[in-house]
Parts: sequence; C-alpha cells; structure tokens
Amino acid sequence: MEPLDGNAIGGLLISLLGTDQTDVVVTCAHCGATRMLAECVVFRSGPGTVVRCRSCGGQLMVFVQRHDVTCVDLLGVQ
Ligand SMILES: [Zn+2]
Repeated sequence: MEPLDGNAIGGLLISLLGTDQTDVVVTCAHCGATRMLAECVVFRSGPGTVVRCRSCGGQLMVFVQRHDVTCVDLLGVQ
C-alpha cells in the first residue's frame, strides 16, 4: 500500500482528542528529528495505522482499533 502523509490520521486524531493535531510538532525518539505530524509518513496496511518518521523511518505511533476501543502507542515520540 502506498504511504500517506500525516493528514491521513487527522480525522482519527479529532475523534480521539477532539481537535486537529496534524500541526503539532513531534520529535522522533529514534533520531531526534522534529517536524509537524502532517509531514510524517502513515501506513494503513496491516492490523493498524503506523506513523513513521520521515527522516529515519522509525516508528513514532501505532493506532490499533479493536471493536470500539482504539489503542495508541506513542513510544516513538519524545
Ligand atoms: Zn527519526
């Protein structure tokens, strides 16, 4: 599947947090690069949505939906 940019998870973040978060600046825990979430790389193939750093490819965030619950892993963000 073709990678998307961070705008692809804008609606998901609004549903989880109540506001648009795509203009939030995130710092990669793997390489220290900082950029707006909208500029990150999003993959929607597989069991969840994975957000990766555009600089190093490190995993920043993972969203997995199971029934009505969304599990969020933010361990790749400082
Ligand atoms: Zn990185």
